[in-house]
Amino acid sequence: MGQAQELEFKGIGVSPGVVSGRVRLLLSGDDPVPDYALRPGDVPREMMRLETALIETRQQLAEIQRRVSQALGGESASIFEAHLQVVDDRDFLMEVYREVRDKLRNIEKVFFDVAERYAQTLLQMEDDYLRERATDIRDVTRRILRNLMGGGRDWLAGLEEPQIIVAHDIPPSEMAALDRGKILGLAMELGSVTSHAAIMARAMELPTVVGLRDVYEKLADGDHVVLDGVRGMLVVNPTPATEREYTRIARGRMEIQKRLDTFKDEPAVTLDGVEIDLAANIEMPADVTAVLARGARGIGLFRSEYLYLANAGDPTEDQHYAAYAQVAKAMLPDPVIIRTLDLGGDKMPAGDRRTEEANPFMGWRAIRLSLARQEMFKAQLRAILRASAHNPKLRIMYPMISHLAEVEQADALLRECMDELAAAGVDFNRDIETGVMIEVPSAALIADWIAPKVRFFSIGTNDLVQYTLAVDRVNERVAHLYEPTHPAVLHLIAHTVEAGNRHGVWTGVCGEMAATPYFVPLLLGLGVVSLSVSPLAVPVVKDVIRRIEMSDAQALAAEARKRANGAEVLALCRQLLRRRAPDLLELAE
Ligand code: PEP
Ligand code: MG
Repeated sequence: MGQAQELEFKGIGVSPGVVSGRVRLLLSGDDPVPDYALRPGDVPREMMRLETALIETRQQLAEIQRRVSQALGGESASIFEAHLQVVDDRDFLMEVYREVRDKLRNIEKVFFDVAERYAQTLLQMEDDYLRERATDIRDVTRRILRNLMGGGRDWLAGLEEPQIIVAHDIPPSEMAALDRGKILGLAMELGSVTSHAAIMARAMELPTVVGLRDVYEKLADGDHVVLDGVRGMLVVNPTPATEREYTRIARGRMEIQKRLDTFKDEPAVTLDGVEIDLAANIEMPADVTAVLARGARGIGLFRSEYLYLANAGDPTEDQHYAAYAQVAKAMLPDPVIIRTLDLGGDKMPAGDRRTEEANPFMGWRAIRLSLARQEMFKAQLRAILRASAHNPKLRIMYPMISHLAEVEQADALLRECMDELAAAGVDFNRDIETGVMIEVPSAALIADWIAPKVRFFSIGTNDLVQYTLAVDRVNERVAHLYEPTHPAVLHLIAHTVEAGNRHGVWTGVCGEMAATPYFVPLLLGLGVVSLSVSPLAVPVVKDVIRRIEMSDAQALAAEARKRANGAEVLALCRQLLRRRAPDLLELAE
């Protein structure tokens, strides 16, 4: 038999690296549940299948729980406790049994229906805690169904050798539980550069391609593929020539990476001597190791959502504190910016509250949620304040500000927390610096009024682009309209920087635009003084900074501001990089 035909799929590369290996298909939560009739004699076999899937599920949950508590400390793994309780609920399982026997439908169908009924009943409850248990039921149901349908297809326990996971989508709660050691790379049908799964994949240094429409049904378990997380390619049944080509590409990139490592401890300073503050974004405390290894000076964005995603209910003040204190100490003497809760949009535990909102990105998200749930918010603020005793440069940042009043209300709560801690004799930094994310156009436009209230602005381009252009940041169908160089976006960035300068407030960028090599000169030219990027991107961004002159960057920005067309600005940005650092284009498709 000849070689199976080579097939190429082009998606969006969101986390670099070339890997080659076997495919493992991950059943998606949205896949249809099989539904067929049984004969009475089939019932015992169906129940055996369920028992086996439950045993498998229990083992998987115990393993994930062990890993999460290793990474985050004991209590953080409590979400999985709740899942284990579902697996062990005898009343629930008896109901499934009765229904299989009485209705004579297959176990997947009955299990799904009974679990969904339980979830729906819980969703009707007044009590927040009980409503959230519906999420646990749906999460664990999905896992059990996956085990039932795939015969141990769950990659967390089932993989014998590291493989390339192909999925429709992976929700944040599952990303958080991935065992990096068992996965070579990820390929997903949904998503974009700025989707939360992509951000987490970069934090895990996991080569990833997203936006591979309809790939799932064209692949089978065990297919051999090559995946390139820079160019966004997935090649099925690669010919020997294709394999050689990708090996060559990987080698070339490795050479560049080696060169970048040689100036890891050097400052990020332009050829004409302007030093830029180059920091890193982290998702969880364990990422600090990568931050230090890649030579970032501080943390410009600690996305604190992870604590909520890996937890049943809200984390306690002590859980928050443990995470922040660990990071604050490890990063001394460099600054650490902790962003308060930014749940919502695509950052939600699987099957959670967002499903109840028609427009989660414009809904009850981030600071809106925090101001509505003050006790939860204050627990986080108190924890950050307590951690500030360990690092005088620990800072607080509020996400998704759209109204001035939100800054004022958050500050008022912060002052209340300070008074409470002071009354209890707890140590903290009373001069802690606060700043806001500028990621909603209204915030950029009122930057002159916000500036007197803060010490810094951090532009979240991931959301700023989405909200300015009305382009959903995670929808690959409109990815072509997601244009960071659109004149409206550049105008908002420039306006923010200028407003900040008028009030002595510095402006940084912590969205993915800062990590894209050809956008770095543009941002610096617009007056941005601080960049925060995934640890993985720190060396390449530093290299760009060290190979340009600030005067080049300013000339680029001035020219860019005159263009009505974002595509022309993009071409100008790429031209400058091609002139100054052509090799780096290879790392930035
Ligand atoms: C952003 O919006 O650019 C940002 C950094 O925040 P997040 O990606 O977490 O929404
Ligand atoms: Mg954002």
